[in-house]
Amino acid sequence: MGLLVVGSVGLDTVATPFDKVEDALGGSATYISLAASYFTGPVYLVGIVGEDFPTRYINLLSEHNVDLEGLQVVQGEKTFRWSGKYHYDLNVRDTLFTELNVFEKFDPIIPEKFCRANFVCLGNIDPVLQARVLDQMVKPKFVVCDTMNYWIDGKKDDLMKVLPRVHVLIINDSEARLLAKEANLVKAAKKIREMGPEILIIKKGEHGALLFMEDIIFSAPAYPMEMINDPTGAGDSFAGGFIGYLHKCQDLSPASMKRAVIYGSALASFCVENFSTKGIEDLSYLRVQDRYREFLTLSKFDEND
Ligand code: AMP
Repeated sequence: MGLLVVGSVGLDTVATPFDKVEDALGGSATYISLAASYFTGPVYLVGIVGEDFPTRYINLLSEHNVDLEGLQVVQGEKTFRWSGKYHYDLNVRDTLFTELNVFEKFDPIIPEKFCRANFVCLGNIDPVLQARVLDQMVKPKFVVCDTMNYWIDGKKDDLMKVLPRVHVLIINDSEARLLAKEANLVKAAKKIREMGPEILIIKKGEHGALLFMEDIIFSAPAYPMEMINDPTGAGDSFAGGFIGYLHKCQDLSPASMKRAVIYGSALASFCVENFSTKGIEDLSYLRVQDRYREFLTLSKFDEND
């Protein structure tokens, strides 16, 4: 009855107009697991790293009650590395390099203990691997999936086979337009939900997020940040906060789903305050709650005031 997270674990070199970090902790599964750890645990992580993956990062994940039995450490191989450079408009990022290294051989083998996890978060990896994960699971109750334009462009057929097997798809606005071949997000959402996922979340960067569920459209505000240091991992932190909260409360009603979107937004807002995973390393459930309440006041208004 746990929460399984599958995705990349890697070392990121990131430059913004303000600062730079080299070989810092990164990867989709890393951000998702850390974000989810504020709500539930242990979080079961499945991923792969090389022998150069620093022990301090292993320790950091363990300290957050992330179960690393499914983290393959391959001797003689190097860890996945990614590098990005942000423009003054932090919504614009160039990928400088992607070194797949050990990730090229990744076969997500789910340890027996993890196969009965009832919640699954499929980080942004090849849809063929996402399907392989689902093949090994025993009737998961709730599957959340992330993807990106790289897979929408390059592996559309495989992605189309995964979508009917997931309950929630989380993508950003440009990915939604690309997947649906439709510029209008409301129309795009309708088309994407016809591809399989009952629930769709479209992230709009610093403009919040939209939740489409049943006949409901819920618009979550974005947190007005005075300083964004590094947007890397915001989407993954959103997914971690979202599924972590739902796993904690085991309630999949629309009201709970809306709260989960706000918790996801809260974790994403903490993430971008600092480089790499620093912004989500030292939180507490109370701090997350405080930010959740700030989100509530952001768009609360009284007709009579
Ligand atoms: P995001 O900012 O949400 O796009 O996520 C950034 C994280 O995704 C970084 O920590 C990277 O290490 C990781 N990443 C970047 N490219 C890939 C890729 N092709 N496959 C898997 N993970 C990736």
